[in-house]
Amino acid sequence: MEENKNSKAKRRCSFCGRTESEVGFLITGINGCICDSCADQAYEIVQEALRQRGNASDDLNLKELPKPKEIKDFLDQYVIGQDDAKRYLSVAVYNHYKRLLQPKDEADVEIEKSNIIMVGSTGTGKTLLARTIAKLLHVPFTIVDATVLTEAGYVGEDIESILTRLLQVADYNVAEAERGIVFIDEIDKIARKGDNPSITRDVSGEGVQQGLLKLLEGSVVNVPPQGGRKHPDQKMIPVNTKNILFICGGAFDGIERKIAQRLNTNVVGYNAAKEQVKIDRSNLMQYIAPQDLKAFGLIPEIIGRLPVLTYLNPLDRVALRNILTEPKNSIIRQYVKLFEMDGVKLEFQPEVFEYIVDKAMEYKLGARGLRSIVETIIMDAMFEIPSQKIDHFVVTLDYAKEQMGKANLSRLQTA
Ligand code: ADP
Repeated sequence: MEENKNSKAKRRCSFCGRTESEVGFLITGINGCICDSCADQAYEIVQEALRQRGNASDDLNLKELPKPKEIKDFLDQYVIGQDDAKRYLSVAVYNHYKRLLQPKDEADVEIEKSNIIMVGSTGTGKTLLARTIAKLLHVPFTIVDATVLTEAGYVGEDIESILTRLLQVADYNVAEAERGIVFIDEIDKIARKGDNPSITRDVSGEGVQQGLLKLLEGSVVNVPPQGGRKHPDQKMIPVNTKNILFICGGAFDGIERKIAQRLNTNVVGYNAAKEQVKIDRSNLMQYIAPQDLKAFGLIPEIIGRLPVLTYLNPLDRVALRNILTEPKNSIIRQYVKLFEMDGVKLEFQPEVFEYIVDKAMEYKLGARGLRSIVETIIMDAMFEIPSQKIDHFVVTLDYAKEQMGKANLSRLQTA
């Protein structure tokens, strides 16, 4: 009995040697024990080993990876129009895979990455394209917003925090993150304000661009694992950005003026006769060239690191009408599904779609406004119908007009 008591008092963790009273609790095995904190550490070690094992690029196999055409077909299911941007993105993603798969010993021709920049007004589908492509990717992917970035020492987030998100989606597996893709939204917001580089230093713009350049070029960057601001006692994780593909997007409001200026001056040159190609003044974005980005305030080094430049078209009536019903998870399909879950068949008279597009055009809301308008029209129905005994609801033009009339439309205008 006495012996039994003693052996209990002396039970120790077979890994760290601490006694039962020194640890949270002990788990007993056949020939030994493990304490809670050693069990925790053991778990970490196992996870790390599993990550290392699953790490090698051999889970990427070019034959099984989607080809550019397949990537575009996939994008077509969710994004209306924007063919040029889709083609550029599809090729860029496919080439990214190829670069990752290039055997290390075949370094005679080293494939360099081609980061991308997409220019197009807000609400034309830049983020949607990025999100859709993420669904299909076999590498970690994240979307970050350039507006929160500031130069070290100022309020905001350090540039390195862009990579924190990538590390997080890769579950802190550095090798995995190092072959990922980052979409940087609102890149235009870090443009230098004004086209004159010699004017007083512009903190928020040029400094951030210089910082970003380091990432785009490919270098080893110390990343704060929790993001935000670096602080001295935080353990940094070194990440090499050489193989990370960066896709940037921005509205570049007012860049059309720069494009128009350039096009006008070009025509005066001695090539004028040849340049008689008709310019489509309603969509100048399609003529975007690197020098326009420079005129807008991006530094030439950044532009040089974003060699693939593509654009998104403004959305016209036809595009808006298609966005409403065509994509696989179109706005209308989403509401039909919501009603279906209550056992109600929701239908719209075709004229209602035209009316919704009219309103979106009238309030200059673009695609972003479509959802608010549909929501306004069927809000009352969504409130009433779940408690009513009906299995069919048709939205007629009169009903839609009545609902819109009742709504506070000034709310929509600022949406
Ligand atoms: P951006 O990033 O260009 O400002 P978004 O991609 O965020 O615009 O678009 C906002 C919303 O508008 C999307 O969630 C989507 O519902 C709709 N949308 C915009 N453009 C398209 C498009 N080309 N095809 C389908 N839906 C679109």
